[in-house]
Amino acid sequence: MKRTVKDLVNLKGKVVLLRVDFNCPVDTLGRVTDYTRIIEALPTIKYLIKQGAKVVIMSHLGRPDGYEVRMSLWTVSLILMQKLNSKVYFSNKVIGPEVRERIRSMNNGDVLLLENFRFFKEERACDMAFCRELAGMADIYVNDAFGCAHRKHASTYGLARVLPNAIGLLTEKEVSVIGGAMEEPKRPFVAIIGGAKVPDKIKILKRFIDKADTILIGGAMAYTFLLANGVTVGDSVTYLDSVSVAKEVLQLAQEKGKKILLPIDHVVVRKNDKRQKKIVTENLAEGMVGMDIGPKTVKLYAEEIKKAQQIIWNGPVGKFEDDKFREGTLKIAQAVAQSKAFSIVGGGDSVSAIKACKCEDKINFLSTGGGATLKFIEDGSLPCIDVIQEKIR
Ligand code: ADP
Ligand code: MG
Repeated sequence: MKRTVKDLVNLKGKVVLLRVDFNCPVDTLGRVTDYTRIIEALPTIKYLIKQGAKVVIMSHLGRPDGYEVRMSLWTVSLILMQKLNSKVYFSNKVIGPEVRERIRSMNNGDVLLLENFRFFKEERACDMAFCRELAGMADIYVNDAFGCAHRKHASTYGLARVLPNAIGLLTEKEVSVIGGAMEEPKRPFVAIIGGAKVPDKIKILKRFIDKADTILIGGAMAYTFLLANGVTVGDSVTYLDSVSVAKEVLQLAQEKGKKILLPIDHVVVRKNDKRQKKIVTENLAEGMVGMDIGPKTVKLYAEEIKKAQQIIWNGPVGKFEDDKFREGTLKIAQAVAQSKAFSIVGGGDSVSAIKACKCEDKINFLSTGGGATLKFIEDGSLPCIDVIQEKIR
C-alpha cells in the first residue's frame, strides 16, 4: 500500500509540491469547456489547505510546443479560485529566484498554481537537475495526477525520487477501486470492450481473459475478431495486421474456458452513402460498413450484463459521436445501469460516451484516467505510483 496524504503528519507550514491533472479540454480561445478534472482534484487540495500546508500546484495542459497562450494555466487558476472559494496565486515561472521568493512569502493554507509544466522541455525529459531545483523549494511531493501516472515526466516521476512523497486522494481512490476489481473481482465478472484500435487493446483483452469470466466485444474492434472467425465484414474498419493476434486471443479464451462474445448483428451504412442505416445479421456484403451493434447483440449482451456482479467497460460499442450510431452504446449503458453489478468505466472515449448518453449517475465508478486507466488495468501498476513510498505500518 502506498503512502497517502492522510499518512503525512505535521503538514502545518510545510511546502507541498502537489501534482494534479488539470489537463482540461479547452476551446480555440483557451477557455476550459469541462471542469471535471479541476473538481476531481479538489479533495486533496482542500485537505492540504486544512492541514495548514503551503500548497504549490503543478500540472500540464495539452501538448504545447513551448509557450502557447491558449494552454496557459492562468485561466484554470481563476476557475480553481471559484471552486475553492479562496485566493489562488499564479506564477508564470516554475523555477528560479522569483518563484522561490513567492513560495517564501506564502502563508499557511495558501495556494500557488505554477504555469503549464509542458511549456518547459525539462518536464518531458524528466531532467533531474530541474527536479532537484524544484525539490529545493519544497518539503514534500504529492502526486494526485492519476491520469498522467503512466508518463515518467519531471513533475510526475522525477520529483518523487528526490522528495519525501505520497499519493493524493484521487489517485488512492482510482488505485483501490480498479486495483481491487482486477485483483479480487466479484463474480461473474463481465468485461465489455469496444473502441477502435485493436493493436492498442490486445494487452487489455489478454488481461481480461485472465481475470474476467465473460468478455463482450463491440465497436470497430469486433470486425477484426469476426474476420478471424471467418465472417465477412464488408468495408468495416479492420486491422488486417491484427487478425492473427485476434485468432490467438479467441484461442486463449477457449483454452481458459472463458466466454468471449462477438456481435451477431450490426447497424450498417453503405460506404458511399452514409445517410441510410439498416440492420444486418451475420455476414456484411461488400460496400457495407458496420457502425454499431444491432438489437440482437444488445439483447445478447444485456443478458450477460444482467448476470454480472462486476463489470468493467472500456471502449464504446459503436461510433457514438454520431447520433445515428449511439443506440448500441446507450442501450449497453442502460443495461449496466440497471444491473446490480458494481460497474467501472474507464478510457477517454468510453467516459465521454457515458456522458453523451447522460448515464454517468448510473455507473458506480467513472475512472478519470484515459490512457493511464488502460495501462493500469493491463499492468496492475503504473510507474509514477510505483515510485511512491510504501505506507509505514
Ligand atoms: P477509449 O478511448 O475509451 O479507450 P478507443 O479510443 O479505443 O476507446 O475507441 C473509441 C473510438 O472508437 C470512438 O471514436 C468511436 O467512434 C470508435 N468506434 C466505435 N465503434 C466504431 C465502428 N463500428 N466504426 C468506427 N469507429 C468506431
Ligand atoms: Mg480513445
